[in-house]
Amino acid sequence: MNTDILVIGSGIAGLSFAIKASQFAKVTIATKSEVAESATRHAQGGLAAVMKKGDSCWLHVKDTLRAGDGLCIKKSVNFLVKHAPEQIRWLQGLGMRFDRKPSREAVHSRPRIVHRGDITGREVEDFLVSLAKESKNITIKEYHLATKLIREGNMVIGAYLLDARKNGIMQCSAKAVVLACGGLGRLYKNTVNPQISTGDGFALAYNAGAELMDMEFVQFHPTGLYNSEPPFLISETVRGEGGIMKNRLGMPYMAHYHRDGDLAPRDVVSKFSIDEMKKTKSSCVYLDARHLGGQYLKKRFPNIYAECQKYGIDMAKDMIPVSPTAHYSCGGIKIDLKARTSLTNLYAIGENSCCGIHGADRLASNSLTEGLVIGASLSAYLKKSMKKEESLQGSSITDLTMPCEPLLTKDKARLATVRKRLQDIMWEQVGIIRNVAGLRDAITEIEALEKEAKRTKGFDAGKAQALSMLTTARLIAVFALRRKESRGTHFLIDYPERDDARWIRHLTVSKGKGKNMESKSF
Ligand SMILES: Cc1cc2nc3c(=O)[nH]c(=O)nc-3n(C[C@H](O)[C@H](O)[C@H](O)COP(=O)(O)OP(=O)(O)OC[C@H]3O[C@@H](n4cnc5c(N)ncnc54)[C@H](O)[C@@H]3O)c2cc1C
Repeated sequence: MNTDILVIGSGIAGLSFAIKASQFAKVTIATKSEVAESATRHAQGGLAAVMKKGDSCWLHVKDTLRAGDGLCIKKSVNFLVKHAPEQIRWLQGLGMRFDRKPSREAVHSRPRIVHRGDITGREVEDFLVSLAKESKNITIKEYHLATKLIREGNMVIGAYLLDARKNGIMQCSAKAVVLACGGLGRLYKNTVNPQISTGDGFALAYNAGAELMDMEFVQFHPTGLYNSEPPFLISETVRGEGGIMKNRLGMPYMAHYHRDGDLAPRDVVSKFSIDEMKKTKSSCVYLDARHLGGQYLKKRFPNIYAECQKYGIDMAKDMIPVSPTAHYSCGGIKIDLKARTSLTNLYAIGENSCCGIHGADRLASNSLTEGLVIGASLSAYLKKSMKKEESLQGSSITDLTMPCEPLLTKDKARLATVRKRLQDIMWEQVGIIRNVAGLRDAITEIEALEKEAKRTKGFDAGKAQALSMLTTARLIAVFALRRKESRGTHFLIDYPERDDARWIRHLTVSKGKGKNMESKSF
């Protein structure tokens, strides 16, 4: 199969980019599930952008830098904030409708979250899917999972795609390959990320030899609905609108720990929620929104209200049981502001990429915006550079679909055990509170699990994803062990303080470079 641009992933980043690029190129979107399945679909809060009087770009930059705990790359933050409003207008111009009044979330000094009720992600995803389906220049390949990038020298010329329904592998050659595979929450036992968030993009890029950056910074959201299945997030907007974190005894606690109280950064609220859970011998804490009143809650949070009711919780009468949950990867495939990776013709956008916007902790609702802004920047870049055929020409790959040997039932069971063990290790040892010995043990155990997974015979989508999870998990643990300080989402008991003298720098790694990883300053 041949295409001009192969986009891997169909969340906000992949779809919005594909729609723009389809104006000047043939685009193929390969996505491993149904096209609309993505983390984007589950986003509730919205998109951060300065759209109203009383707010300013300067304030949005300042808030982003504050959340990033000293590690944001300012040039990237400025770029995001400057281009965010035009991307919201791009969506609106195509017919997407948002509520008139922006909402507020933690660390934002102004209400600037552009939203559609409390189901913004679903509305945006469905809207983009319908536009992509209408485009003659976009081909969507559902249930096609990218398993490996194809390289010629330093140039990426395509990818192997596994047709999950037929269990056969084909090659797809492209002049440009764009990784838009989203995040990695499913590496952890507790997460609100959907099933698709298995960290594939990071592993694909790493295995191809691309550089990754800041992988130690995994954001944990403090308010996952406790014991919900499928896991459900209580949006930060509930705290933004006045919700209060309380412990099992009904005592508010965030004001004791941080000047911003309940609106402190996510890593801070998550960490102190764990402390409160330990102190009160409880497996959850509570979010109290009762004082906001039933009428208001039902109108402002209809989806959250209904979801809570499914578990017998009435937000107007009951405190909501919540606990921290793996949420977002601040690090990823290292890119510049045109989404170029360290490999020629390989680009990355959305959550699996990293240009330093989020630093050590992401400001709420900057993620969807980033997907749009960096995707637009890549589209503009390719529009110009694709004219220079010589620099983008990929070599041709023969059309071939090879059936895979299916896995035996016993090997499937082995992989399920590996996956479960990995999620436990990541939660216990590479989670919210880390220590050096625990990280070392985790790396050894993950390596053993990798060997175990590779010993299984045959190949299918489940095995491909398990292998990606293991690679990405090892990367996070190795990065975390390397950073000997605590900052943002990375809390290391052995080094509990932020250490600006030594650690205002970004860790990077690429396969085969150095023994474990390279460390670079910006
Ligand atoms: C519950 C929840 C609430 C959130 N709320 C907000 C919010 O209010 N505001 C905000 O800014 N952010 C929010 N986030 C974060 C935000 O949703 C994500 O960071 C963002 O949607 C990522 O977009 P993306 O396009 O990079 O990836 P995704 O939307 O995750 O899409 C990834 C795509 O890649 C595909 N894929 C993955 N691996 C492969 C592979 N190997 N081959 C082929 N396809 C593959 C997937 O099937 C999927 O289509 C939230 C996240 C969650 C989970």
